[in-house]
Amino acid sequence: MPLIRLDQVDLVYHADEIETHALAGISLSIESGEFVAISGPSGSGKTSLMHVLGLLDLPSRGSYYLDGRDTSTLGAGQRARLRNAAIGFVFQAFNLLEELRVEDNVELPLIYGKVPRAERKRRVAAALAQVGLIPRARHFPAQLSGGQQQRVAIARALAGEPRLLLADEPTGNLDSRTGEQIYGLLESLNQRGTTICMVTHDAQLAARARRRIHIRDGRIIDASRAP
Ligand code: ADP
Ligand code: MG
Repeated sequence: MPLIRLDQVDLVYHADEIETHALAGISLSIESGEFVAISGPSGSGKTSLMHVLGLLDLPSRGSYYLDGRDTSTLGAGQRARLRNAAIGFVFQAFNLLEELRVEDNVELPLIYGKVPRAERKRRVAAALAQVGLIPRARHFPAQLSGGQQQRVAIARALAGEPRLLLADEPTGNLDSRTGEQIYGLLESLNQRGTTICMVTHDAQLAARARRRIHIRDGRIIDASRAP
């Protein structure tokens, strides 16, 4: 059973009487343990697809099964709990809280998630270790480079112990060398078992992924798996 299965998913946004068909007939399966790179021109629906996968937007049509569960049958509260338990997000903007130390940024979602204190401390230390930032735990975001800030954001996502990590242009604000390092970190996390779905504009990075999906006008126009 795949971790993710989308079946003929449409996503329509309504704003100011304008309908935007952001996704049109997306069918896609992702197995547990895969690393998938999604690329496509600006406005093609990449972020919309991440929002559907991340249970942030509901399909207007079609079905989304996560771990075999039909997510359309879930209420808002159940969906939020499933999202918190199963999915981690990394964005182009690091979205760290400037007034909090690195370790507190990583811990904050666990406090919201009512994870007990001792377990929180264990997970924060484990997540910071995975991204190599234990020595920066007591720093503030402004004292870190862009690449280090993105590693904090990745640690924050990992602290939730997600089965699925969704990264939307995680290297978009970084120079190419730092972007390469962040990509390498995501690859190593994938090798240790996290399923990763990453949007990237960078054709060289996308080419390194075993599985590539190219979308245009809300449709998958090319999907390939390296042998
Ligand atoms: P990408 O990430 O590939 O650049 P998006 O998924 O952000 O593309 O956007 C796909 C289309 O949906 C675009 O036409 C965009 O303007 C539209 N769109 C995205 N988010 C919204 C929204 N919240 N409300 C209305 N339209 C949106
Ligand atoms: Mg986008």
